[in-house]
Amino acid sequence: MNRSIMTAPTNLLKTPLLGSLLRWRWGRFVGQLLLLLAALLILYEGFAGPPLASENLAAVVVWVHYRGVLVLALLFAGNLFCMNCPFTLPRTLAHKLSLAGKRWPRPLRSKWVAIGMLIIYFWLYEWLDLWASPWLTAWIIIAYFLIAFALEAIFTESPFCKYVCPLGTFNFVSSTISPLQIAVSQQDVCHTCVGKECVNGSLQTLGCGTLLFPPQIQSNMDCILCLDCARACPHNNVALTLRRPLAELTNANAWPRRWDLNFLIIVLAFTGVSNAFGMVPPIYTLETWLAASLNIHNEGIILLLIFAVLNLVLPVGLGLGAAWLSRALARREESLRLTLARYAPAFAPMAFAGWLAHYGGFHFLSSALAIAPVMQNFLLDHGIAALGQPDWTLGPVMPMTWMDPIELVIVLSGFAASLYVLTFRARQNRPKPDGMAAQLPWIVLLLALAVAMMVVFYLPMEMRGSAFFS
Ligand code: SF4
Ligand code: SF4
Repeated sequence: MNRSIMTAPTNLLKTPLLGSLLRWRWGRFVGQLLLLLAALLILYEGFAGPPLASENLAAVVVWVHYRGVLVLALLFAGNLFCMNCPFTLPRTLAHKLSLAGKRWPRPLRSKWVAIGMLIIYFWLYEWLDLWASPWLTAWIIIAYFLIAFALEAIFTESPFCKYVCPLGTFNFVSSTISPLQIAVSQQDVCHTCVGKECVNGSLQTLGCGTLLFPPQIQSNMDCILCLDCARACPHNNVALTLRRPLAELTNANAWPRRWDLNFLIIVLAFTGVSNAFGMVPPIYTLETWLAASLNIHNEGIILLLIFAVLNLVLPVGLGLGAAWLSRALARREESLRLTLARYAPAFAPMAFAGWLAHYGGFHFLSSALAIAPVMQNFLLDHGIAALGQPDWTLGPVMPMTWMDPIELVIVLSGFAASLYVLTFRARQNRPKPDGMAAQLPWIVLLLALAVAMMVVFYLPMEMRGSAFFS
């Protein structure tokens, strides 16, 4: 067990003001209420606002600002969206209504459903042009609330967050590189603690919804950063710690060596490329060619085929292939699962870099100011002219010529961080560290991903959500 990241000295919950705010019983509820108000505004605008996405507050906020701010928050702080997620409000309501009963079925207690939801989500995003439809954007939010409430009402833990939600799944994997993590101040206090309220809950406070036990936490996976554990602990022993960069990914014991968890990271790295591929001209050439070759003229089926290959067949096939080669080159006798689990965490920085470069580096930086005319338009539609007439040319926060170098730096940084994690994990192997030969298949795969990202990112890309065109 790596105690260095479990009992780190910095505890943000002990800092003046911020600590009190984070520990405040209603702190999370206030954050959730603010996001609930934002969700209600998006619903209203989605159904009643302008049909053109680039002029609609709901579409611009969800498909430009939410995604851009999300990746930046994950990089510099942690899973702040899940912390304030309004979709989890039903959990509290369901518990108050005492509807919760059984645990999530055992065969489904893995990330396979979440991987499936991620792939379905990215397919629907392209097929139904979700980003272009304020109406569908609003319906997605309604579906989220309904499904979250239904699952939280039926089952005892938080199955929606832990096993189903594609947004949460993205946040869980990405937060493995975040600087904040839940830990405990003193392990000894936990040893003698009778109630274990951090996970079991108390009369006033819920315990951990995703059933994490703070003294044993070594990973941000499944932590929605709700801080219920800190509020429930009667000994004030839960800490929100700052950890060193890549601490979790270089900790050999941080994650269970499960197929689902490790494929999830590789799948997320591939979806970072395929999602951007859906926004560049070659996708249309490929769609036309496939339609003619297979004599299938339904776009939904063609896109399903494309994304099933890019997001499932390739990551699973290449992941297994790399694991098999790596094991053969290391002359090891171990299961492929163990080899995969040793190296798959190295894909997390590369995966995150792809999403950061695409959403944080391109779409957000090139369209962030689009919120100004959209807001002006919204107010004008409601008879308020105080902010003046919209200037629809607003969008980029910096010259567009800066975007390519910024994306390149982000992708190269992700690649370098992935190589560091890879090498670190190879050296950690016992009884004998893995040499360069065992790392080679993974290096080639990571390099191929980095090159694919840059090739796709450098093609002319649809802006999606802004009136400004690249
Ligand atoms: S309730 Fe507090 S002291 Fe008890 S096990 Fe949980 S973190 Fe440790
Ligand atoms: S460990 Fe559980 S209760 Fe604590 S912040 Fe994470 S999800 Fe919330």
